[in-house]
Amino acid sequence: MNKCIYCGSENLEKELPMRGSKSAGHLHFNYANDAKLAAMFAVENEIIFADLCNDCGSITRFYIKDTKRFWNKSV
Ligand SMILES: [Zn+2]
Repeated sequence: MNKCIYCGSENLEKELPMRGSKSAGHLHFNYANDAKLAAMFAVENEIIFADLCNDCGSITRFYIKDTKRFWNKSV
């Protein structure tokens, strides 16, 4: 996606890592290296990235880089 779907601008900033507060680190999804582990607890973090429109401030995309994970869905 090379255009903002809201304002049509091509002035996009890509691949910004999502961050929490200073101490919270990156926003991420939790996963483990096998399904059994993933059901019990989170071992690893998959960082969430965003593309941002520099003109209207809309976030045009959220994504992660590796989808082949065993996700931990506990809250
Ligand atoms: Zn825009």
